[in-house]
Amino acid sequence: MANGNNDNGYALETLAVRAGQHRSNEGEQSEPIFTTSSYVFQSAAQAAARFSGEEPGNIYSRFTNPTVRVFEERLAALEGGASCVATASGMSAILATCLALLKSGDHIVASRAIFGTTVMMFTGYLAKFGVATTFVDLADVEAWQAAIKPNTRLLFLETPSNPLTVMADISKLAQLAHDNNCLLAVDNCFCTPVLQRPLDLGADIVIHSATKYLDGQGRCVGGAVVGDAERVGKDVFGVIRTCGPSMSPFNAWVFLKGLETLNIRMQAHSRNALALAQWLEQQAVVERVYFPGLESHPQHALAKQQQSGFGGVLSFEVRGGKEQAWQVVDATQLLSITANLGDTKSTITHPATTTHGRLTPQARAEAGIRDNLLRIAVGLESIDDIKADLARGFSKLQQ
Ligand SMILES: *Cc1c(COP(=O)(O)O)cnc(C)c1O
Repeated sequence: MANGNNDNGYALETLAVRAGQHRSNEGEQSEPIFTTSSYVFQSAAQAAARFSGEEPGNIYSRFTNPTVRVFEERLAALEGGASCVATASGMSAILATCLALLKSGDHIVASRAIFGTTVMMFTGYLAKFGVATTFVDLADVEAWQAAIKPNTRLLFLETPSNPLTVMADISKLAQLAHDNNCLLAVDNCFCTPVLQRPLDLGADIVIHSATKYLDGQGRCVGGAVVGDAERVGKDVFGVIRTCGPSMSPFNAWVFLKGLETLNIRMQAHSRNALALAQWLEQQAVVERVYFPGLESHPQHALAKQQQSGFGGVLSFEVRGGKEQAWQVVDATQLLSITANLGDTKSTITHPATTTHGRLTPQARAEAGIRDNLLRIAVGLESIDDIKADLARGFSKLQQ
């Protein structure tokens, strides 16, 4: 657990490189990895003071670790939060948040368009412990309002949504949450603090799968929760310390190196994705493109107001159905065929038969996932090479 203090008014670019570093007496330039499970005390009295909480300091790496703390302080500074708790994965960040803030009998209102495993956690596991969830349309503020009950404690969303890039108005939903004595949690995986800062817009909790853009190079699994000192610094930290889904020091080190290049990477992902989306809109075999940066996106104005860039994920529908969509996937030679995202390497996936394959055809139709839909998480390769890789498949569709 770490407290970020938006160090001396430095800009985001500076915080991403510098925040959280506490140089040791060795004078190291790069942050070291502390591979130690426990810590040694100078005396019995110091051990007792550490365990009782009288004296702050390390006890055991399930609780705190200096390398993990650098990552936490840096991410807290970037999100503008008082506290950050690192976790073993994005899913454990969501679980720890729910364990810390909810109890049996409480109710969640969540967007229908959230990460599939989060839906499974809410309906398959939290429900077993008496926490029910109602799912609503992300962009429909009135539907959120109508779903709130006296026992609702948490509103939960991702924006833009995956894969159709629907947006939530975070300020409006934060207001709604607070008018109803609820908290708003935003999974900020797609935008990262470089493109969107939910706490500034009124959200209470920010959740990350660090596995995606924070690492940015597809190496480690991890997560984080950012928010205030009480709920996150004390309550979520308490869950991690007691229940144990802590981040490993090695992974923390990889992620904090990822944060150092996050700003330039997110700018480059956004630039490539916008160029690709504009090109896709001009292709004869492409029927529709979903990307918040396009003027044709129904919430383009909200995207411009709420985000400082449009992100790296886009979707599009080709003329035809599953067979034509698969032809485009199978004609690629450069793009990676994988459902992962947030990597320097571009990835392509067919949602209807992968991420959304377990839904019934009706549920898929309701979610707007057509058989001709493809999603690309645009990486940092040359935009011309990415276009050429797709053009090969498109020319087959035209034959
Ligand atoms: C991947 C992902 C998660 C889960 O994160 P893991 O690190 O895989 O546990 C949660 N939310 C979103 C939006 C994701 O993309």
